[in-house]
Amino acid sequence: MSNLVNERDFATSPDCPVVDGKRQVQHITPRSADVGGIPVNRVLPSRQRRMVGAWCFLDHAGPAVFKGDSRGLRVGPHPHIGLQTFTWMLEGEVLHRDSLGNEQVIRPGQVNLMTAGRGISHTEESVPGERHLHAAQLWIALPEAHRGTDPRFDHYPRLPQWREGEVEMTLLTGEFAGHRAPTLAFSPLVGLDLVARESSTLELSLREEFEYGLLTMEGELEIEGETFPPNELAYLGRGRDRVSLDLPEGARVILVGGEPLGEEILIWWNFVGHSKTEIAEAQRDWEAESPRFGRIPEFDGPRLSAPPLPWKA
Ligand code: MN
Repeated sequence: MSNLVNERDFATSPDCPVVDGKRQVQHITPRSADVGGIPVNRVLPSRQRRMVGAWCFLDHAGPAVFKGDSRGLRVGPHPHIGLQTFTWMLEGEVLHRDSLGNEQVIRPGQVNLMTAGRGISHTEESVPGERHLHAAQLWIALPEAHRGTDPRFDHYPRLPQWREGEVEMTLLTGEFAGHRAPTLAFSPLVGLDLVARESSTLELSLREEFEYGLLTMEGELEIEGETFPPNELAYLGRGRDRVSLDLPEGARVILVGGEPLGEEILIWWNFVGHSKTEIAEAQRDWEAESPRFGRIPEFDGPRLSAPPLPWKA
């Protein structure tokens, strides 16, 4: 099966190779990282694949248990431009604060969505006494036409939920199976969470113009006879109208998809841009404490410093 196809056959095209009439699935392996004291597995961006639709960053944080006098997650003030940060909480409670004055606790089953546009800064910290964290943290690149949009923050306490057999589905953004999420989006996208209450086989209807990836967050996932362990991203590419999944009892998977963005973007530190100039300006403005990124005086701790640019400005 997959040994018939070399990694380089996937290149960067959204069209996965077809071998013996079967469209191949790319295995994207995670890297481990640390975000505000929490171990995370990062599958996007990767050398193997930079984006899936406009989804350009995908961290699986935890599941983590805080011991002793740990205060849990603590990410001090830092800026963003050109993207939306998207948090899907599975376990634990985290307080978001931003430079627009928003303060919002996110709880399991909820989505926080911060649209950075031309500039915002925020903090994230476990609520006092919290011992757990399990979440997916994603970034969505804003298309060129919307990169300078006004910053804003949206909290979605309830999202469309339904069952297909023994699989619980939650629609995080976009449309799926006749359901529509309220989540603000700037390009055609979908995000869907699936949890198997019993061992299940199911078929998902897909849009051929979308590319898709499936991330296993708990348990294992089998796609058309091929196994994907936790934290691997199964990249399905474009051009499929369905996919068949086998999920053991307790497995949790998220599906992300969208139309290929079709724009070259740069991701550097907490910025997504369409040019080096745009990123250099944001770096300078943050380091100069420009009003562009505002302030979060309520946070008890220092602001993060931007590293030097990796190229000559
Ligand atoms: Mn952030």
